Amino acid sequence: MKVASVLIPLPVQEAFDYEVPDGLSLVRGDQVAVPLGPRLLRGIVAEVRETTGSNRRLKAVEGRLDDPSVPERTVDFVEWAARWTLNAPGEMAQAALKGLRAPRPRPERRVRRIGDRRPGRETPARSAVLEVLGERSMAGAELARAAGVSSGVVKGLVDEGVLEVIEIEAVAAFDPPDPDHAPAVLTPDQAAAAEAIGAAVDERGFRPFLLDGVTGSGKTEAYLEAAARTLKADPAAQILILLPEIALTQALIARIADRFGAAPAEWHSGVAPPRRRQVWEAVRAGRCNIVVGARSALFLPFVSLRLLIVDEEHDGSFKQDEGLVYHGRDLAVARGRIEGATVVLASATPSLETLWNARSGRYGWLRLGARHGAAVLPDIRLVDLRADPPDPQTWLSRALRTAIAETLAAGEQTLLFLNRRGYAPVVLCRACGHRMTAPDTDSWLVEHRYIGRLVCHLTGFSMPRPKACPACGAEDSLVAVGPGVERIEEEVRSLFPEARIAVFSSDTTPDAASARALIEAMTRGEIDILVATQAAAKGHNFPGLTLVGVVDADLGLRGGDLRAAERTYQLLAQATGRAGRADRPGRALLQTWTPEHPVLQALAAGDREAFVEAEMAEREMAFLPPYGRLAALILSSENAQAVEATARALAEAIPNAERLEVYGPADAPLALVRGRRRKRLLVRADRDVDLQAFLRAWLARVKVPGSVRLTVDVDPYSFL
Ligand code: ADP
Repeated sequence: MKVASVLIPLPVQEAFDYEVPDGLSLVRGDQVAVPLGPRLLRGIVAEVRETTGSNRRLKAVEGRLDDPSVPERTVDFVEWAARWTLNAPGEMAQAALKGLRAPRPRPERRVRRIGDRRPGRETPARSAVLEVLGERSMAGAELARAAGVSSGVVKGLVDEGVLEVIEIEAVAAFDPPDPDHAPAVLTPDQAAAAEAIGAAVDERGFRPFLLDGVTGSGKTEAYLEAAARTLKADPAAQILILLPEIALTQALIARIADRFGAAPAEWHSGVAPPRRRQVWEAVRAGRCNIVVGARSALFLPFVSLRLLIVDEEHDGSFKQDEGLVYHGRDLAVARGRIEGATVVLASATPSLETLWNARSGRYGWLRLGARHGAAVLPDIRLVDLRADPPDPQTWLSRALRTAIAETLAAGEQTLLFLNRRGYAPVVLCRACGHRMTAPDTDSWLVEHRYIGRLVCHLTGFSMPRPKACPACGAEDSLVAVGPGVERIEEEVRSLFPEARIAVFSSDTTPDAASARALIEAMTRGEIDILVATQAAAKGHNFPGLTLVGVVDADLGLRGGDLRAAERTYQLLAQATGRAGRADRPGRALLQTWTPEHPVLQALAAGDREAFVEAEMAEREMAFLPPYGRLAALILSSENAQAVEATARALAEAIPNAERLEVYGPADAPLALVRGRRRKRLLVRADRDVDLQAFLRAWLARVKVPGSVRLTVDVDPYSFL
C-alpha cells in the first residue's frame, strides 16, 4: 500500500498520513485534498512511501488538486523553517499556499470569427465589425466601440453563428525586465559591491552579504545593478526584494520600473487576493522575475531564485510575533541556503547579529563610502534639556524652536520625530491619581484628540474620554500627561501659525495610498513641518529636508529590553539620516535629559563603531545574542488557574541541559491582554547548544490543556 504524508494546517508537529488510492501517482510537493473529520483540506504532499501490512485504518487522499505543485525546494524550506521556529509544519506550509485562497480571476469572454463564415445579410455595420475584428479575438463591447456600432450588432453575428464566444484565461502578464533599460553610472564602491554580488550569483552557491552604507550612499542603486547583472547572465533568474514596511514598496516599485522598464510583482497583505493568486502562479511558472514584498513573500513558490535582498535588514518589523512566529531576515538567509542563492542584507545600521556574522567572516561585508554626490551627513547635536528646559506643558526647547524658525525662513523642511502616536500617552485623574487603563488589558489608554477617544494601542479598544474619573467620580479632573505626535503638532501650530504642518503616523496614514500621498506632498515641498512617528524614519528621500528634531531621544532607552539601546540607536540614526540630501547640508537636534548616555554620545559623534563596540561588549559579558541564543515560551488563557498550572508543569519538566538556563515562569510585563492572563519563560543557551532539540524534548513532556495557548518564540524581539 502507498502512504502519503501530507502537510495540513493543524497545530501538530508531524505531517498526517493518508492512503494513496490506486491509480493516483503523487510526488512531494503535489497539492491534494484530504479529509479531516467532515471537512476537506488543502495540503502539500511531503513524502510518499510504500508500507506493508499496517493495520491502521488510514483515510484516503481525496485527489490531486488542479493547482500546480509546490516546488521541492519550497517544501524543503517550509519544513526547515518549521523545525527552526517550532511552528507546526502544516501551519508553516499554509504560508506557502497563501496566494491560493482567492479563486482565479474570472476568464475574459471574447469573440472571434468562425472560419470565414459571412452573415446571410451584409450591412455596413456588420461589415465594419468583421473588418475591425480580422483574425483577432476581442471583447464584444470593445469590438463594437472600435467598429462604431451598437453591441447588438456583435450579438446578432454571434447568434447567427458567424462569430463565436471564447473564454480566455486571465493570466497576468509580467513584462520581462530589461537590464539595459536605464542603467545608472555607479560610483567605484557601488560598482565594486554590485560586482561582488553579481559574481557570487554567477557561482550559483549560497553566499550571504552585508551591504553596509549610510542612508543615501546608494545601497539600492548597488543591489539593483546586481539584479541587472543577474538577469543579463540568466534571463530566467528570479529575484526577491523584501522590505519591512508596505509604505516603502511603492517607491521601490517605481524605481525598479524606471530602471528595468517593467514593474515588478508586488506581494503583501495590501495586495488584493485575486492578484496574489496571479503572482503566485506567475512565480511558480517562472513568468515573473522580480518580486518586491513583505516577509510573507519568502514563502512564494520560486523555481529559479538566484538573488534575495533584505533591505533595512535591522528592522524589527521583519519579526512576526503573532500567528506564525518567525524572523523574515533569518528565514531569508535560510531560504537562500536551501535555494543556493545569493543573499544581500542591506542597512545603514545593521543589526548586531548581522554585524557579528560579517565580522566573523560568515557574511561577505560590502561597504559603501560617503553619500552619493555632494550630500553630506547631517551635523548631529544633543540638546541638554536640563540646561534648556521647555516651558511647562510644552516639549520643544529654545534651541529646537530657533532651529525650526531658521529652517522655515530658509524655505526648507523640518521633521519632528517622536515615536508616540496620539495626543498623550497617559491620562491621569488629578484628584485621585487614577490612570486610565483598558478594561481587559494591562496597558495605559492613550488619548487621541483627532478622534476624541482614549485608545488601547495593544488591542485597539477605544472609548470616549469620560467626563468624570471612573475611580473617584471627580468631574473634569482627567489630564493628559506627556506628549504624542498630535500634541507636538498643536505646539508647533501655535508657535508657527503660518507654517504648513502635517502629522505622519499610522493613524493619519492608515493605508498605503494615504501614506504615499503624504510622502509625495513632503517630497514636493508642500509641507514645512512634518511631525512623525517611526513611520517616517525609514527609507524615504525628502530633498528639501534639512532639519530633524528628535523630541525625546531618551524614550527608547527607558525600561528597555535586550535590544533597547540597539533599537534606539538604529531608529535615531535613521531618523537623523533623513536630513540633508544632494546639495543641502542638514542638521539634527536630539533633545535629551541624559546627554552622557553612550548611545547618544555615539550618535552625536556619528561613531557607529563606538556604539557597536560598547553594545557587543555588554552582550558578550551576559552571553546574550549574538553571543548566545534566546527562546521564550508564552502561556496565555482566560483561565488564570490553567495558566498557573501549566507554567508550573513546564517548570517541573525542564530537561537537564548544560550551558543553558531557564528563567521564570513569571508574569509577563503585559500580564493581561484581551482578558487573557499571560506568563512567560525565557531560555538562554550558548550558541553551540541545540536549542530547538532542547525545546522539543521539553515540550514533549508537558500536556498543554486546550484552554491554554502556548507560543514558542525562538529568538524573541518582544519581551512583553
Ligand atoms: P540608499 O539605498 O543607500 O539609501 P539610494 O540607492 O536610495 O541609497 O541612493 C540615494 C539617492 O542617491 C537616490 O536618489 C539615488 O537615485 C541617488 N544615487 C545614488 N547613487 C547614484 C548613482 N551612482 N547615480 C545616480 N544617482 C545615484
